[in-house]
Amino acid sequence: QSGEGQTEDYLFKIVLIGDSAVGKSNLLARFARDEFYSNSKSTIGVEFQTQKMEINGKEVKAQIWDTAGQERFRAVTSAYYRGAVGALLVYDISRRQTFDSIGRWLNELQTHSDMNVITILVGNKSDLKDAREVTTAEGKVLAEAQGLFFIETSALDSSNVTAAFQTVVRELFNILS
Ligand code: GDP
Ligand code: MG
Repeated sequence: QSGEGQTEDYLFKIVLIGDSAVGKSNLLARFARDEFYSNSKSTIGVEFQTQKMEINGKEVKAQIWDTAGQERFRAVTSAYYRGAVGALLVYDISRRQTFDSIGRWLNELQTHSDMNVITILVGNKSDLKDAREVTTAEGKVLAEAQGLFFIETSALDSSNVTAAFQTVVRELFNILS
């Protein structure tokens, strides 16, 4: 709502999706708290975290949802997706199987959302250079074919983590403001 003496409020729901252990919780921990957990205890069952960002001089809030590990059982509920306008679809560049799952996650996202969700394909764990199983080019090609943004990140060494979230939020701001 805007009015005299009031500032407009922007709140975007963004969901983290992708196979188990690709680093979703650590991407959020790095982005929101600049923390990293070397074991998988980072999934703490908090539904979402709200992060303030500034885009074009306006305050924007990104409400970022993380799964509580239910993707292990392929049981991410429709409540998780409800109202989402953005998504980070994450795979692990050192495990091809997680890249092969992207199509399934895209289907799930499209099934559960009523609008076109602004999505970035995220190849995480770019620090694991010697263990890489998915090339950067493969990620780019898939993203282009599916109309997604694309970035490679490392929650461990922080590279591109902020950029991944910012790409989605900036696009949402451009479209929805
Ligand atoms: P989630 O199941 O997708 O939420 O994945 P987690 O965030 O729990 O991470 C799974 C495992 O991968 C943990 O042991 C993390 O420490 C590790 N991990 C997450 N991100 C990275 C990364 O960028 N690089 C490396 N080397 N390990 C990571
Ligand atoms: Mg997790």
